[in-house]
Amino acid sequence: MEHYDVCVIGAGYGGATVAALLAKSGRRVALIDKTPVAGGKVQTVDRKGYRFEMFGAVGIPAHDSRFHELVEELDIGDQVEFLIPEGDAASVRYKTPAGEWRVMYSPLRQTGAPKEMEDLRRVFDATDEDLDAMAKLYATALSLTDDEIAALDDVGMLEWMKPFGLPSGLESQICMNLNTLFVVAVDRLAASEAILAMRQQVLGGAGRYSVGGYARLAEACANYVVKQGGVFLSRQRVKRIVVDGGRVVGVETDRGELRADAIVSNAGIQPTVLALAGAEHFPSDYVDRVTALEPSWAIAGYRYVLDERIFDAALIPIFSDQSWLDEARYQDMARGVWPDVPLIAVDVPSEFDPSLSPVPGHQIANCQVFCSPDPRSTQWKEAIERADEILNELWPDLEDHIIRKEPYGPRAISSLSRDSVLPGCGGEAVGLAQVVGQVGSMKPDPRTPLPGLYLVGCDAGGRGAGTHQAVDSGFNVAAMVDADLG
Ligand SMILES: Cc1cc2nc3c(=O)[nH]c(=O)nc-3n(C[C@H](O)[C@H](O)[C@H](O)COP(=O)(O)OP(=O)(O)OC[C@H]3O[C@@H](n4cnc5c(N)ncnc54)[C@H](O)[C@@H]3O)c2cc1C
Repeated sequence: MEHYDVCVIGAGYGGATVAALLAKSGRRVALIDKTPVAGGKVQTVDRKGYRFEMFGAVGIPAHDSRFHELVEELDIGDQVEFLIPEGDAASVRYKTPAGEWRVMYSPLRQTGAPKEMEDLRRVFDATDEDLDAMAKLYATALSLTDDEIAALDDVGMLEWMKPFGLPSGLESQICMNLNTLFVVAVDRLAASEAILAMRQQVLGGAGRYSVGGYARLAEACANYVVKQGGVFLSRQRVKRIVVDGGRVVGVETDRGELRADAIVSNAGIQPTVLALAGAEHFPSDYVDRVTALEPSWAIAGYRYVLDERIFDAALIPIFSDQSWLDEARYQDMARGVWPDVPLIAVDVPSEFDPSLSPVPGHQIANCQVFCSPDPRSTQWKEAIERADEILNELWPDLEDHIIRKEPYGPRAISSLSRDSVLPGCGGEAVGLAQVVGQVGSMKPDPRTPLPGLYLVGCDAGGRGAGTHQAVDSGFNVAAMVDADLG
């Protein structure tokens, strides 16, 4: 039976990062994924010559990110080229309380330039006083020390924002952005996580993509593992983590068994503990805690190929004052009471990298809207139908230019990431919800109570938004495993 130093289950951004970094430090690594390619939830696939994001993906921060550090650390700059658009790459569509649609084109790194301030006045009817309040909010967020931020682990973001007294339009803009970054209710989102991401966004900008697709760096990490003498076993599902003598010793896949000194799982904390290893190998209070963990929401939407440039920017958020979601509004949606505009984010990868389309001028886009993470729920269908109505209102000729339109929901997310092992879980867009009670010291430790078993990705070990959190976790967990292996 083949023996490795480390076996990594899952080649999402967390798994791919930890595998590559451990391979770099001389460990013999087996990286295993149930799907054909690396990237997990943000994998890029080929469809009839088009490079396609399975789910929309852009990185935050754009500059000076953990992605940049990883490329440098592995010295793979020749394989991964980041694309960060200059100029007005975002176009905001805001529906006023009076029902008028307003448009705002803006750069992905806001600078507070006079034109940006003028746009905020025009689109959100913001007064000088309102803009001062917003400036104070950002200045406070930027001036907090690390300890002051950590002290906000137990404070909800909406509560932290309230004293600044933002008017509803500017509040909506910030809250919809936070919903989009974390895919959880803004009132329950931990202020510590939110402020960190806002700072990264202000200092490093909002849109990072890479030539050839968002998953390029994850693919390069998998190749790196192989180059260093390890293996990338794609299309192999890990069925069981093998435990012997009170510690993990290997994994059983649908093609056989392999042995390793350490197992790092990117398959999600609940599937790893409750299904792959088995609850019987953990203390009962740990199992109870893992069972009670709450996932982020899911994102449903459509993948499009269009026969001409219909969407006029790389990133298009669409919202009204009713669109951003706190817990009460999310529960309303679950009961069938929808806002006038469901919060929609349109990502247009071909605006970042036109070479994704084999036909010049064709557009590849992804429309996204929030829904329940339960793979069995049908709420996502209503969410995308409602999003469709809004898109057709804003771009009346959209339907005439569709070459391909693929709907997706939480079941599709689960199939490319974690299995559903508990009711209501599996289709989450991010991973563990970054809400009060689940971040900072309350976040699960990557080192599980079962010796030799570690967690990586958006459930443990990292901070930040989406894939940036997964890569951050990959760095931290690689250092931990390396130290433990000695
Ligand atoms: C629609 C959508 C839009 C998003 N937009 C953005 C965005 O714009 N920017 C951003 O940064 N983030 C975005 N995210 C969130 C981001 O994709 C995730 O937070 C991140 O990719 C999670 O990474 P991860 O390493 O935790 O794990 P995952 O990506 O979930 O990877 C887990 C991997 O484990 C594998 N696996 C699981 N079980 C097994 C098993 N038993 N055997 C073998 N392999 C297994 C899976 O196949 C998968 O490859 C989006 C997510 C969705 C769904």
